Amino acid sequence: MLILKLGGSVVTYKDKPFTPHIDNIARLAAEIAEADAQPLVVVHGGGSYGHPIATEYGIAEGYREPRQIIGFSKTHQAMIELNDIIVRELLDAGVPAFAVSPSSFIVTESRRITDIDLQVVERLIESGLIPVLYGDAVMDTRQGFTIISGDQLAVKLAKGLEAERVVLGSDVDGVFTDDPKLVEDARLIEELSLSNHGDEAKIGDALDTDVTGGMLGKVVEATEAVEAGIEVVLVNATVGGRVRAALRGEKVIGTRLKR
Ligand code: ADP
Repeated sequence: MLILKLGGSVVTYKDKPFTPHIDNIARLAAEIAEADAQPLVVVHGGGSYGHPIATEYGIAEGYREPRQIIGFSKTHQAMIELNDIIVRELLDAGVPAFAVSPSSFIVTESRRITDIDLQVVERLIESGLIPVLYGDAVMDTRQGFTIISGDQLAVKLAKGLEAERVVLGSDVDGVFTDDPKLVEDARLIEELSLSNHGDEAKIGDALDTDVTGGMLGKVVEATEAVEAGIEVVLVNATVGGRVRAALRGEKVIGTRLKR
């Protein structure tokens, strides 16, 4: 069982609202077809689809005022649109993809997934389908609603489905000693040991690295999978061949997280 997460930075142009990165999506669909690695679940992020609307209405922070209600729906709908583009590309590549809406079977408590009914996803997988899910606007028992990241979802699915490996595809080669987009001589960390470093402050201190932003969130989420004995590999999904190699379990440029 493999879980592949494709970041919003991969499937969209993050700085152009509602712009899918069709070239990346089509190439990755072909790589997924070629890897022929099943069972597989694909999760994607929101990028320039989910994020702008969620931010405009303050969805992640929960219910405060009536005007947010329609924003909750608009956020979810934006994700359905992006999901539709991705699922179509996968189908065109011959991958038996099947769209699954996270908000219809997941509930959070204070932004963390507490209820997740995997029966349908499990049956889809047994039938030879590849469920394609996404970070979504979901109902939250404490704050009314919230946003779950594709990273949190990928890790929860990995644990619930007892996956062997989680491949986190982003727009950088893996975890670096500093943000590679800001620091020119940042070095790629090929193996990152997380034992006892599973919280935000400690990851930076203990490893003498400056992991921030989206990458910090990823590593923090991934810790839960690593602790459950699941292999987690971070690769650059904008570079051809990396995701295919990671799905096949081949040696690939990236960061492997270790206990
Ligand atoms: P995605 O949208 O693919 O899920 P994010 O954009 O949320 O990914 O997070 C990845 C980003 O995190 C990278 O593009 C990079 O700019 C940033 N980042 C910050 N610190 C680091 C680091 N130490 N190593 C790698 N990336 C980092």
